[in-house]
Amino acid sequence: MNNRKLSLAAKIVIALVAGVMFGIIANLFFSTGINEGISKWILSPLGDMFLRAIKMLVVPLVLCSLICGVASIGDIKKLGRVGVKTIIYYVFTTALAISLAMAVANVIKPGIGTNLSIQTAEKVETATPPFIMDMFVNMIPTNPIEAMVKGDMLQIIVFAILFGMCITLIGKKGETLLDMISQINEVLLKMITVIMLTAPVGVFALISKVIMFQGIGALLPLLKYFMTVILSLILQALIVYGTALKVLGGLNPIKFFKKFWPVMLVAFSTSSSNATIPVSLETCEEKLGASRSVASFTIPLGATINMDGTAIMQGVATIFISQLVGVNLTIHEMLMVVLTATLASIGTAGVPGAGIVMLSMVLQQVGLPVEGIALILSVDRLLDMLRTAVNVTGDAVCTTVIARQEGE
Ligand code: ASP
Repeated sequence: MNNRKLSLAAKIVIALVAGVMFGIIANLFFSTGINEGISKWILSPLGDMFLRAIKMLVVPLVLCSLICGVASIGDIKKLGRVGVKTIIYYVFTTALAISLAMAVANVIKPGIGTNLSIQTAEKVETATPPFIMDMFVNMIPTNPIEAMVKGDMLQIIVFAILFGMCITLIGKKGETLLDMISQINEVLLKMITVIMLTAPVGVFALISKVIMFQGIGALLPLLKYFMTVILSLILQALIVYGTALKVLGGLNPIKFFKKFWPVMLVAFSTSSSNATIPVSLETCEEKLGASRSVASFTIPLGATINMDGTAIMQGVATIFISQLVGVNLTIHEMLMVVLTATLASIGTAGVPGAGIVMLSMVLQQVGLPVEGIALILSVDRLLDMLRTAVNVTGDAVCTTVIARQEGE
């Protein structure tokens, strides 16, 4: 079993490397017409099929596994404790991530010495901060089916928790139903294993399509910005997650990453925390030893509100743009960035490209030109892949920490 899994993981890596290489070759040597043809007839359909297949499981899996998870906790106090700890942990690590990113950016100074200029004429998509109370109100679905159809994760989570709690409250009468839901859950987990067999093909298609059109030439003028984000992401993964795993989770970080990296690859190639929920859930439960009651809560919630990688990009981008326009942010303004970027990353949906739109909120908050986003947009596709891998790792680290603290 282990061997087969290992070889699948190895196949995914090979597919990733091959995809990058093919993308570079196509970008350099093939005409745009040929590349568009390859993308339209081969890469897009294959990549989309893989993406759709894993997304297909997100809603039913979150629903079933959270209902089973909550029902198996049984004790409302534990549920509240896990909930509060998870939310505090998520907010704290996100704030830490932005602070770290801004510190790194202030040392490297990616925006100094580049001859890039911000074109104020360029139009970019912007986001306005939601009214905080609306966020709480909207967590309660008026129609659970609609929430599932829309894939509104927070609403689904609220419904599933309440449903799971009430199954326990009706006692014996609910046993058959609970059995049924947990059997459906088993089937869904099996479906992930089956779908993941096609991951090498999907990963190859997704990555080669990005590189084919993006090329690596776009990176050059923004190389310093790009590298600063990557360095901060690596520091977050190694230092913050490494320490959390060791100190709070009692787990050897190397062991953790050995088991978790295939999930990071899926996050990397799909650029979507939401799409990665099923694989991440499976890995946390089956390989990292977290119980369903913890993982089924922390993973979907994390995919929705915990985006450390996104926060890092927002922190570096803010410093980068401020340096480009020659503005020195005061300590007070930097604290504002930490606060808004924490909120912005909570509000970022776990889908490709969402983080860059939310960046506008942070920039507006400290009076920096939103047009700066247009400048970094060209490298954001690649950074999105990397930060999504960190986003989902943050969720899994939290899961391990909470599971450990709950004695698992
Ligand atoms: N793609 C990221 C995610 O799904 C969100 C972002 O754009 O930063 O986690």
